[in-house]
Amino acid sequence: MWQQRRDVQFSPQGIAKALQHNATHDEIAPALFSCLLCGACDVLCPEEIDITGMISALRKEALLQSSNATLKEAVKAHLAQATSDIRIEENTIVLAGEALRSTPATLNKVLTLLSCETSAALAIDDGDDIALALEAGIEISDHRLHAFLEPLQKVKRLYVSNVHLLKQLRHWLPATELFTIGHSLSQLNTLTSKLNKNDLYLIEARAYHLDHKKKVRHYSQLRHERGCHINLDLQCNAIPTAAGGLNAFEPQLDSAEQVRWILSGRNVQRIVAECAEDRRAMSQVSELPVLHIADLMEA
Ligand code: SF4
Repeated sequence: MWQQRRDVQFSPQGIAKALQHNATHDEIAPALFSCLLCGACDVLCPEEIDITGMISALRKEALLQSSNATLKEAVKAHLAQATSDIRIEENTIVLAGEALRSTPATLNKVLTLLSCETSAALAIDDGDDIALALEAGIEISDHRLHAFLEPLQKVKRLYVSNVHLLKQLRHWLPATELFTIGHSLSQLNTLTSKLNKNDLYLIEARAYHLDHKKKVRHYSQLRHERGCHINLDLQCNAIPTAAGGLNAFEPQLDSAEQVRWILSGRNVQRIVAECAEDRRAMSQVSELPVLHIADLMEA
């Protein structure tokens, strides 16, 4: 937010100070809804405040009290269109998300690569609408939630593209093993051995900050071994592209500007993204070849 707005209102401190001085929800709504929920501030906060949790809770209140109902109605309409899976039989399921589903060849590679002990199957209902409602702070009906969760109750292992949804699934499905797709693929040596010093490797920012200490070690090692560029800043936080989630649905920040910022000053010949939304955003701005990490399988 700061990189694009250069305005203290668009920062966690700005939001907190505004609330302390009795700002209304309408006044802080632009900042609340510009936040990408990337989690970079969570891992830097010296008081270990759950800032993204605070912003999510404030979004709910802001929507309840706001005079502007446009976002609420748009997300609700999206929820109403969702379909559910009738049955899921497999042990390992992938909730791929729209961007990955839109590239079937890459999706097939993802399914093959994630089929270790048992074959990984694709869920028809991957909860995109629920993820969006969670991000926007909009109530999800019990009926919709039940239709989404009920078929997943017996699944042993779940790979999820949307990290905000994954965080919530930890509470909804406590017995299920949950993984993010991009980070799981980044642990496969068959893929990462194909990275080199001319590559920019794009970490999915939300997944990275979710388990920050372990991930810093993992990606530092990857950078050290392969010599590739990575979208990390000097504090070892991943710079988000702003290409997914609520910002893709109702843009508050310019994703193309984010991408140009990430690319600026780098001398690379290829871009490899962990997340399908990031790959799409990169392809729209850069003339370099842009791959999803699963595409390294055949590179
Ligand atoms: S979650 Fe990301 S975009 Fe939101 S305030 Fe924190 S660092 Fe900024």
